[in-house]
Amino acid sequence: MENNRGILIVVSGPAGSGKGTVLNAVFEKSDNFTYSVSATTREPRPGEKDGVHYHFITKEHFEELIANDTVVEHTFYCGNYYGTLRTVIEKDLCNGKNVILEIEVDGAMQIKNKFPEALLILVVPPNYEVLEKRLRGRGTNTEEDIANRLERSKEELKFFNEYDYLLINEDIDEVSDNIISIIKTQKLSTKYNKDFYNKFFNI
Ligand code: 5GP
Repeated sequence: MENNRGILIVVSGPAGSGKGTVLNAVFEKSDNFTYSVSATTREPRPGEKDGVHYHFITKEHFEELIANDTVVEHTFYCGNYYGTLRTVIEKDLCNGKNVILEIEVDGAMQIKNKFPEALLILVVPPNYEVLEKRLRGRGTNTEEDIANRLERSKEELKFFNEYDYLLINEDIDEVSDNIISIIKTQKLSTKYNKDFYNKFFNI
């Protein structure tokens, strides 16, 4: 007897930690996961598609979503709003999909409060130098944005203890395999199998 509700997974990591690439590998290896497409007020980067990478919306529209309680968490990050749409995660979790939220720490802490059963994973680069190199290597951020993101990264890592797992990203293949195994194990935990207990004792 298995709990059919999916697991809510938060993946955070400083800009340049490589979490996006890791998650792409997870999606290639397994179709037990869905990605929650966030809303943001930032401009699309070259190659980013509306509705795929983000829902790119205006500041006014975003503020409406906050007022209507349509976003389950949101933050203001380096000059822009980012938020998770409530409908997306509820629908997929009910359908038994494991839903991945790729969000920064402020949002992660809001999710942890609202959904104590959520699993929180922190992906980090091996060290600060690698972080800076990766961020510059992207070539899509301005110097000011890079400086802001590096500063923010240091702040984010202070939340280390709030996360369930720490994955040091030295090898994409290994980190993505680890994420898949963590979720598999988590599915077997008592925390996720309360339905079994209730059915067994007819509660
Ligand atoms: P980027 O601009 O590089 O796409 O994202 C900047 C940061 O915002 C990243 O750490 C990313 O994980 C985070 N982020 C993306 N979507 C959301 C969201 O819906 N909520 C929160 N709190 N953070 C988000």
